[in-house]
Amino acid sequence: ALMITDECINCDVCEPECPNGAISPGEEIYVIDPGLCTECVGHYNEPQCQQVCPVDCIPLDPERKESREELMAKYQLITAA
Ligand code: SF4
Ligand code: SF4
Repeated sequence: ALMITDECINCDVCEPECPNGAISPGEEIYVIDPGLCTECVGHYNEPQCQQVCPVDCIPLDPERKESREELMAKYQLITAA
């Protein structure tokens, strides 16, 4: 999963781009629900939020490294629900 750092300027550009609805306004900055972020696997070749963020504040979450297979399994779980 990806994560949003405190450099986020709350511009709201990323939220509508997420195919999984994983991004929402948090208490102070935007946040990604790691249970819903597939790094866009299953939908796109590149993480869409990273593409649009004007301040590049959406890195990989080092605490939540996942293989492509794990991300695909998450995608299938989400879309089956
Ligand atoms: Fe959503 Fe894709 Fe960004 Fe994850 S990488 S938060 S699935 S847009
Ligand atoms: Fe924050 Fe970047 Fe999303 Fe804008 S696009 S709300 S700066 S994470």
